[in-house]
Amino acid sequence: MGISIHRYDAVIVGAGLAGLAAARELESRGKHVCILTKLHPLRSHSGAAQGGINAALRDEDSVESHIFDTIKGSDYLANQEAVELMCTRAPETIRWAEKMGAAFSRNEEGKIAQRPFGGQSFPRACYAKDRTGLTLLQTLFEQAHRDGVEFWSEWYVADIIYEEIDGIRKVSGVVAYNIRSMQKAIFYAKATMFATGGYARCYAINSNAHANTGDGLSIVARHGIPLKDMEFVQFHPTGLAGTGILISEAARGEGGKLINSEGERFMQKYAPTKLELGPRDLVSRSITREIEASRGVGQNKDAVYLDLTHLGEEKIMTKLPELRDLALTFLGLDMIKEPILISPTAHYSMGGIPTDVAGRVRYDKENIVNNFYAAGECACVSVHGANRLGANSLLEALFYGRYVGETIIKDLEDGNLLTHADHKISDADRMVAEIDWLLSSCGSERVADIRKDLQDSMTKNAGVFRVEEKLLKQREIIKELRERFKYVGLDDRSKVYNTDLQEALELGHMLDYAAFIVEGAIYRKESRGSHFRDDYPNRDDKNFLTHTYGYMDEEGNIDIDYKPVKIGKYKPQERTY
Ligand SMILES: Cc1cc2nc3c(=O)[nH]c(=O)nc-3n(C[C@H](O)[C@H](O)[C@H](O)COP(=O)(O)OP(=O)(O)OC[C@H]3O[C@@H](n4cnc5c(N)ncnc54)[C@H](O)[C@@H]3O)c2cc1C
Repeated sequence: MGISIHRYDAVIVGAGLAGLAAARELESRGKHVCILTKLHPLRSHSGAAQGGINAALRDEDSVESHIFDTIKGSDYLANQEAVELMCTRAPETIRWAEKMGAAFSRNEEGKIAQRPFGGQSFPRACYAKDRTGLTLLQTLFEQAHRDGVEFWSEWYVADIIYEEIDGIRKVSGVVAYNIRSMQKAIFYAKATMFATGGYARCYAINSNAHANTGDGLSIVARHGIPLKDMEFVQFHPTGLAGTGILISEAARGEGGKLINSEGERFMQKYAPTKLELGPRDLVSRSITREIEASRGVGQNKDAVYLDLTHLGEEKIMTKLPELRDLALTFLGLDMIKEPILISPTAHYSMGGIPTDVAGRVRYDKENIVNNFYAAGECACVSVHGANRLGANSLLEALFYGRYVGETIIKDLEDGNLLTHADHKISDADRMVAEIDWLLSSCGSERVADIRKDLQDSMTKNAGVFRVEEKLLKQREIIKELRERFKYVGLDDRSKVYNTDLQEALELGHMLDYAAFIVEGAIYRKESRGSHFRDDYPNRDDKNFLTHTYGYMDEEGNIDIDYKPVKIGKYKPQERTY
């Protein structure tokens, strides 16, 4: 089977909310655009989002307050210009989604209902019961389909075409193969956009879809493009004990209480004003501290109670039906009648591919990767800084997806983007070599074993609490795991739906980006947002009010550089709740 060649104005990788929002924008302006996705679009992780999407809609609320909450929540690491842009355009983004057909839940007055979320000073999370992400994803997918966006579903993107000519860096498209048939193809485009989602899958207990293996990040990093702020991984306070499956913050938003083995509502000690609705980093640390102090519950004493019984059946069945189902199915506990068991779960990636405020991949004034864009969870424009507030990432995916679509249209119409005249089959060489190696390797190592060792060790050594000694140990463990990966062998060598092959490619990506998390965490000798160092428990603005940029060399070593955070109107203050 030869390698097929395709040409578009814009190629988007990822059919979650960010990719779909961008594609719609481009298609509606007559651009020839396609989406490549390794999953059916409706299986993208965006569809798992339960709780809500933030926007200041009410007269009593204000955009200013949304901006401030987000910057404070970020522990002052956010790019304030990007936050201002996103929050200012949040109300319009909700109206846009609603006009397309997204059925948000309503209050008694018939207005879009909003619920409280952690770290917010006003109830501003709009929702569709506890199926907000699915509602939005279905709406956008239908619209994109109707508009004529071309979908290449179940195509695995394994590489970008990256050229550096006379110091000018440029991405000219992507290389992919079809998961069903192993057909290989090159997609040339004037503009290439990554919307490949998050990277919390490298932890043993996590809330993410199996597909969230950070492919996009590692593909980019292998070409020497840096990744930004990778040490910031959000641990959500309430994963179902033992599984990590998410119990949305909506449960606490609606009034859920956290209780330890002594029957104490312990958040009174840690966040006396906001209690359970403190920001996620703080609540996750508080739960972990309680468990460490032997006040945990459950068989292994490694969980705490989330009590919703006082809400009553009617409220639970109308506002949190999916969450009740999850706890019933996976723990056999009915939240209407009894408290459920929860513990923190790796959930969200604040770091990623560095972009400027318009969504162009760029890591400082001079260093721009031409014709290349990123949005959504894989990108780090840094609207969340060191800690994302709940319900701000659906907003980022929708708003920024669409906004980056606008940027691409502008660049296309200004004639800034070069057309790709000739094609070279050799552009697919890297991917072909990697696949051939994996399909022919007789190594004795197995993907599942290496992956489990990676996930277990990341949870143990680079989790909620971090300390130098364990991080250094994790650096060595990743080195060993990468060495073992060289001897990986597949049980399935067929060319039809070879999930063994796909998982091996994904594991290669996980090993690479996990190394960035660890190197960033070693470098950052302070505690800020989701990154908490037991050996440096305070925030250190003098030395670390900086973004980290990790660069990977050919041997896989990572070098950390840093740049100061641009502070706008909001000066760093102590963060209390
Ligand atoms: C359980 C859960 C609940 C959440 N709840 C909320 C919430 O209530 N509110 C909120 O604001 N946020 C929430 N979030 C976060 C939010 O859902 C995500 O940050 C957001 O939806 C990410 O959207 P995205 O478009 O960037 O990526 P995704 O929706 O993850 O989509 C990624 C896409 O990339 C494609 N892809 C990846 N790699 C490749 C490859 N190699 N080749 C081809 N395609 C590829 C995938 O097929 C997929 O289509 C939640 C997250 C989780 C995990």
